[in-house]
Amino acid sequence: MDKQDVLNYLDEISDEVKDLAFQVWSNPEISTEEAVSSKLFKEKLTENGFKIVNTKGVNYGFYAEYGQGSPVIAILGEYDALPGLSQAIDTKFNPLKENGPGHGCGHNLLGSAGLGSALAIKRYLEKTNTKGTIRFYGCPEEERLDGKVKMIKEDAFEGCDIALSWHPMNANLAAKEAFLANNSIKFKFFGTSAHAAQSPEAGRSALDAVELMNVGANYLREHVIDKARIHYTITNGGGAPNIVPKEAESWYFVRAPHRKDVEEITNRLIKIAKGAAMMTETTVEVELISGCYEILPNETLFNLTYKNMMEIERPKYTDDELQFAEDIQKTLNPDTIQGEIKKFIPSAQDEKLCMHQDLVDKEIAGSASFTGSSDSGDVSWIMPMNFMLTACWPLGVAAHSWQATSSSGSSLGMKGMIYAAEVFTGIMYDLLNEPKLVEEAISEFNKRTEKEKYISPLDSI
Ligand SMILES: [Zn+2]
Repeated sequence: MDKQDVLNYLDEISDEVKDLAFQVWSNPEISTEEAVSSKLFKEKLTENGFKIVNTKGVNYGFYAEYGQGSPVIAILGEYDALPGLSQAIDTKFNPLKENGPGHGCGHNLLGSAGLGSALAIKRYLEKTNTKGTIRFYGCPEEERLDGKVKMIKEDAFEGCDIALSWHPMNANLAAKEAFLANNSIKFKFFGTSAHAAQSPEAGRSALDAVELMNVGANYLREHVIDKARIHYTITNGGGAPNIVPKEAESWYFVRAPHRKDVEEITNRLIKIAKGAAMMTETTVEVELISGCYEILPNETLFNLTYKNMMEIERPKYTDDELQFAEDIQKTLNPDTIQGEIKKFIPSAQDEKLCMHQDLVDKEIAGSASFTGSSDSGDVSWIMPMNFMLTACWPLGVAAHSWQATSSSGSSLGMKGMIYAAEVFTGIMYDLLNEPKLVEEAISEFNKRTEKEKYISPLDSI
């Protein structure tokens, strides 16, 4: 069985993979509630001879293993949906369930591509008696940004050598750096309630503290690195205007390209919170909800991913599919579409493009940045990890939108998913047949983490 034979086998089982992706899409479950989705994955893997091990730290987390000896390759799969993003496969806003959940981040595709590649490589290991182990990881709670962080804390990835990851998006791209490190923190202030008109002098307002903290945070913005992001919302502002609020709460996200910047800014934010408490004679409790790392680059795996993305034929679309993509684009701001084309495909500027069908130039891909966050970043700090995107949505479609839900259930999403599964299969085939690649990726990882070891964000405050 050579590489092409393995890819041909994946092609044979591609309808099963699409079926799974569609079933998960049709039954969207938000973070912490992925009972049916994880079961669908487990069933498929068990049927195919994988051994299932449930992981600690999260409900509905597991890995499915096949093979023997090293290298041990971890394929990261996710399957959680998002609240409020229910949507039919339609080019107009058309929720299947009012305010219901939906796969607006395409995790139905994310998990299924990984599973497809696991089945293909399992067939290869079985037929050729090649040494090596594959583990498909079912990783829940990605949208809370801490599922994998909790799994790492429970040593769920112990024994793995290399991890493979990807995300559905609107371009085909091998990424080197991606995501911002993040902390999600709640600040709870406690004061003294009083009648706001009769005895305001007896009250100490927790809401005043929240507001003063926000003022302080807004001044802090001028004195942090340009690429840092600080955003907040007030989650409890008290009850009625005539009661001095005894309790109030704000919820902050701090993001930056590197974890150490996030930690530094978080510490300064905590000082501001304490200052606000002092000014108002209230007290403050700080609660870290979650935190995650940015992706640690790995040149070896970046090159290997790019090579496979280049070699493997990218999806072609029918006229109907291109029309669907164009109609979805009509619901978007034209400047957003052009901005994306300018970012990824500068040579196509001013052209009318609805689906990305090529591969983003290596140099552009290598320096592209993505300002969201993902708990996959943490995995890249405990072992070498690749990262890539494939075009599953029309150009201009943003993650976490109804347009992304619609595309992720459509044949556009399915084609991008199968391409991702093929690239994963190609990468694993190369890793299993060229042990030098595994050694190089690991030694590069060791060098990059020599001075900066992974510390769980959950232990950072
Ligand atoms: Zn996502």
